[in-house]
Amino acid sequence: MSALAERLELVRQKISDACRRANRAPNAVTLVAVSKTHPIATLQEAISYGQIHFGENRVEEAAGKIEAMGRGVVWHMIGHIQSRKAKDVLSLFEYVHSLDSSKLAERFSRLIGEGQGNWQPLHIFLEINVSGELSKSGLMAAKWQDNRAVREALWAEVRQIAALPYLQLEGVMTMAPVVEQADQARPVFASLRELRDALAADFPQHSWEHLSMGMTDDYEVAIEEGATMVRIGRAIFGERD
Ligand SMILES: *Cc1c(COP(=O)(O)O)cnc(C)c1O
Repeated sequence: MSALAERLELVRQKISDACRRANRAPNAVTLVAVSKTHPIATLQEAISYGQIHFGENRVEEAAGKIEAMGRGVVWHMIGHIQSRKAKDVLSLFEYVHSLDSSKLAERFSRLIGEGQGNWQPLHIFLEINVSGELSKSGLMAAKWQDNRAVREALWAEVRQIAALPYLQLEGVMTMAPVVEQADQARPVFASLRELRDALAADFPQHSWEHLSMGMTDDYEVAIEEGATMVRIGRAIFGERD
């Protein structure tokens, strides 16, 4: 077995072990292989081992790969999106994990209304900054349970986005802070799950079914806390340059 095949197999095994610990069905979690910085040949090798979902964080880099690789792959945009790239994102990706402003949401809504894009509907998750780290993008939600101002500002933004035509909000995404022990990220994942539940109660016209959380260093904990999609790069492809 190649190194890539072995790493992919190990990640799959750990995902199903974490599902079992959490009393969840092993197919309750979708593995998104984060292929940023890696060449097309490496992605093709992963496809030959049955990998279907791939995540990229830069539009230009992704465009070349998506054109070269054609059908049978599901592409996920996981990085920050500039408004002027919204049209490209629509034509390239089936999932967007990183919708982080009402401005961008309005742009997507308008473009889809004009018939742009391949995917009807586009699967959209709101990116949420649960940890409050200023270096992170996402709608601010630090201490949303206790801080009324944070909660009200967040709800006001979500209310605007939720009311737009042509957009289906199917979940939320977050990046946990870098910590020494994966378990230290657990409160961030639990907080995102609780936030998802609160949004689902207040905006029932959207499905909110997905929790996109968990990366190489913390995906097992994220799955125990309810992740439905994990975004994993290094554990599959090795360290990035
Ligand atoms: C790079 C990246 C990942 C994957 O990180 P790894 O630590 O390599 O697993 C996941 N999510 C986002 C948003 C990323 O940018």
